[in-house]
Amino acid sequence: MKIANNLTKIRNKISAAEKQFGREENSVCLIAVSKTRKINEIIMAINKNQRHFGENYCQEAIEKIKAITQPNVVWHFIGPIQSNKTKQISHYFDWVHTVDRIKIAHRLDEMRPDNMAPLNICIQVNTSGEVTKSGLSINEVEDFINELKHFKRLKVRGLMSLPEIKPSFDDQRKSFSLLKKVLHELGTDNPELDTLSIGTTQDMEAAIAEGATCVRIGTAIFGPREG
Ligand SMILES: *Cc1c(COP(=O)(O)O)cnc(C)c1O
Repeated sequence: MKIANNLTKIRNKISAAEKQFGREENSVCLIAVSKTRKINEIIMAINKNQRHFGENYCQEAIEKIKAITQPNVVWHFIGPIQSNKTKQISHYFDWVHTVDRIKIAHRLDEMRPDNMAPLNICIQVNTSGEVTKSGLSINEVEDFINELKHFKRLKVRGLMSLPEIKPSFDDQRKSFSLLKKVLHELGTDNPELDTLSIGTTQDMEAAIAEGATCVRIGTAIFGPREG
């Protein structure tokens, strides 16, 4: 019951934030981040009409994807991508949010089966400029998108970021606002870019205020993760 109640609460919060920040109703898609969660927890969410799930670890995810046979579940890969996992990712997922290297994009494209729809791709951007974090810097994004256009089995949909959590709402908005601006500028030449994947449990409202089209929520749905 906990998961069902949490889903209701988070959906209400998303609706309230859409209203508050002048966003269209139902313009924000909720991705339930189910890394480390058990299959039965995911099924509880599916029974409560949750359809989009985010996973970070390939092996763990594929076991779940194989076991969960409910129709119309959409799987998003949101973790770091190792090149020896690209084949499995390209076979089992509908979306990949964390593409930041051409080599990885190339492998995903090559390995995506022809009989499946193109793989939806978001480019991970590091808006805070930390060298150690994954993601492209803002000034690299445009060239990267142009290179991705050669890949026929990939469909570039937008940008993703995972900034470190700032305590204040205004500071949370800043890095999201930067990403929104980048997406907007790219949109002139790339009208197919319709996705801004930002916001987690701790900064969801700021992300919605800045134009999130997907929020990736784990803790607020499934409770705190162990370890
Ligand atoms: C784990 C994770 C989330 C969810 O974080 P919560 O704080 O549990 O909501 C979102 N995005 C990415 C990329 C993650 O790895």
